[in-house]
Amino acid sequence: MGLFDGFRRDKKSNSQDSLSQRKDYDKSLQSSYADNLTAEVVSEEQQPETETIFESPVETQESAGEVAVEIETSEEDQEDIDLPIYKTIKPYSEKNPVDHVIGTTRIIAVINQKGGVGKSTTAVNLSACLGEMGKSVLLVDLDPQGNASSGLGIEKSQVKNCVYDALLNDVPLEEIIIPDVCTRLDLVPATINLAGAEVELVSAMARENRLKDAVGRFRGKYDYIFIDCPPSLGLLTINSFVAADSLLIPIQTEFYALEGVTKLLESVKLVKARLNPSLDIFGVLLTMYDKRTNLAKQVADEVRNFFGNLVFETVIPRSVRLSEAPSFGQPITQFDPAGKGAIAYTSLAEEVIQRGNQN
Ligand code: ATP
Ligand code: MG
Repeated sequence: MGLFDGFRRDKKSNSQDSLSQRKDYDKSLQSSYADNLTAEVVSEEQQPETETIFESPVETQESAGEVAVEIETSEEDQEDIDLPIYKTIKPYSEKNPVDHVIGTTRIIAVINQKGGVGKSTTAVNLSACLGEMGKSVLLVDLDPQGNASSGLGIEKSQVKNCVYDALLNDVPLEEIIIPDVCTRLDLVPATINLAGAEVELVSAMARENRLKDAVGRFRGKYDYIFIDCPPSLGLLTINSFVAADSLLIPIQTEFYALEGVTKLLESVKLVKARLNPSLDIFGVLLTMYDKRTNLAKQVADEVRNFFGNLVFETVIPRSVRLSEAPSFGQPITQFDPAGKGAIAYTSLAEEVIQRGNQN
């Protein structure tokens, strides 16, 4: 498991599986920590004293002793420590039954080839909010980085089949979907295997239609299907252009906000002309808005001038809690339900429902 591949979860969790996982992890962490500590103390003892120019806070044996005492804690205490544990992955056959009649399914790709603008944050939190508001939602992670998957508490090394297998191995989505990762929210996960898809799709038959074929069968089973796109305009993104009814474009309120948007719109035009004539822009979302800066206001105005009514009234504020939530594998509505991030994404979800009703 890579250092940044995991996440931490609410310590109040009561999952039995997770508890035993956590205890195992505690033990291995303790032993590796104790080994390192011993090694550090020994090497400090053996090292000849050298002249130092700057005083650095070298760990003394006394302080090391304090740490050693600290790790001799009872199991009860250890359960209070936040450690990486993951959601149990259940099969699609065990999915909770849908509790309402599904009307029209909207397939929306969250897209912007510019990196780090808030695509995954939006895909995860908007999906989770809509689920909590009673909608049935499927989120397709189409990015080899798998940020939406880990952000929803899925350990990627535990994933047997991912979206890659749907695109290139004809594995049906039923064998890939992880149901109920949050309330009424299912996930098609991505792992690093997906990184090969971009190249492998080049020589595949009907290469632009692979995602459409896989996801299209699920119309009528969900109210919303969101696709979290990678930051590129390669074949994976083209697949999402073809599979989607419309696009949600997050734009970060910073200086280069509109850079690349022209290219994105050109690609949309090409796709409309050749591959998906009904593709539309569902909405443009201003993200990471810092109300203290004039720049954010100016950029927001510029984006509104450019896109007009397509821009959502809801603006997502810059919030540390929003950036922390993925490391706990939780959407913002669970991680910080009363915070400004949760309020903003709930308001966006309301706008999305409203906008959908108007179209
Ligand atoms: P990529 O193009 O790499 O897929 P992305 O467009 O999906 O990136 P995110 O991963 O959602 O962007 O966000 C980029 C970084 O900014 C992440 O570390 C995320 O936690 C953080 N972030 C996103 N939205 C906000 C916000 N509103 N406030 C603060 N931090 C945010
Ligand atoms: Mg992303």
